[in-house]
Amino acid sequence: MAEKRDYYEVLGVNKNATDDELKKAYRKLAKKYHPDANPDNKAEAEKKFKEVNEAYETLSDPQKRRMYDQFGPDGPQGFGGGQGPFGGGYSYTTSGFDGFGDFGDLGDIFSSFFGGGFGGRQSSRKNNGPRKGADLNLNMDITFEEAFLGVEKEVVITRNETCDICHGTGAKPGTNPIKCPQCHGTGQVTQVQNTILGQVQTTRTCGNCHGTGEVITEICEHCKGKGTIRKQPKIKVKIPAGIDDNQTVVLRGEGEPGTKGGAKGDLYITLRIKRHSIYTRKGNNVLCDIPITITQATLGAELEIPMVDGSKEKYKIPEGTQTGTKFTIRNKGFKYVNSNNEGDFVFTVQVQTPKRLTKEQRDLLIELAKTMNEQPPIKKKGIFG
Ligand SMILES: [Zn+2]
Ligand SMILES: [Zn+2]
Repeated sequence: MAEKRDYYEVLGVNKNATDDELKKAYRKLAKKYHPDANPDNKAEAEKKFKEVNEAYETLSDPQKRRMYDQFGPDGPQGFGGGQGPFGGGYSYTTSGFDGFGDFGDLGDIFSSFFGGGFGGRQSSRKNNGPRKGADLNLNMDITFEEAFLGVEKEVVITRNETCDICHGTGAKPGTNPIKCPQCHGTGQVTQVQNTILGQVQTTRTCGNCHGTGEVITEICEHCKGKGTIRKQPKIKVKIPAGIDDNQTVVLRGEGEPGTKGGAKGDLYITLRIKRHSIYTRKGNNVLCDIPITITQATLGAELEIPMVDGSKEKYKIPEGTQTGTKFTIRNKGFKYVNSNNEGDFVFTVQVQTPKRLTKEQRDLLIELAKTMNEQPPIKKKGIFG
């Protein structure tokens, strides 16, 4: 992932900035860096503009802001449910537009700049506007311990990447695409047909340029005019401690490239956590069974309980402990991904009845049994033998 500037720095506010301070800073910067306001330096302004939007989108949402404060810009950017808390990036989905009611003139800025090409309102999207790249999905298996401790993994994905030779235009370097002669660059052709009902006018996507409004005269040989090259990059994935089965980590901008300057798609990685031979998980608690002897159960004992991270925790069970009793070691369970809390470690003792005894042990138990007014077994091979 590209190095990102700190969002607070981008907006020029401090970490404790109030919502109002954020909004003010954002308003100022969005106007300053709007590409139309910077005709001499459009590319740089556009980059800044996107950066400002992305920063504001995250920091203006309390939940996203909390996540950001915890994980930072390069950390895991979202979990669970397909759409992470950083949902949208600067690609304005309907929720992203919520805050614009009070922006007045900025509403126009967005519609002109983004051309409806970003976000969920597909109906208003122009065919030749910027288009976000497709998202990629993949599953990853990790161990119970990896989910517990967090882990960094590397995955190899297959995706299209912008052609280095033509920078995505598909045109041979040195040549430029020309305006499509068929649709005169609009990407759409209008036809008037005479029918029995009179004249009917239909508009469809131009077949010559496929709606882009441009045609290439000489194609880039490297990518055969597609503008992209199939590649298999290795991607580092940070999996946060505490992640649960079926939860998703989202890597913004690691999907397919966008077209016409559209944003890159995202990479969704759904975790599948392997079963463990000793531990199970319930919510954020770790559960396990601990075998104890009859004497430990009867007299009480200090046990050494193996934790998921490999450490041992000493725990005193009282005398007279019954089999099946549960004991809880607080805060030794799974971390909550979105907070600093942890679940508990809950173990259930299982009293093991000895199957083989030495003569001495057996005699001692018989003596013990006598004191308990029980009928001791008469022969070595009794009916319980
Ligand atoms: Zn190329
Ligand atoms: Zn055309």
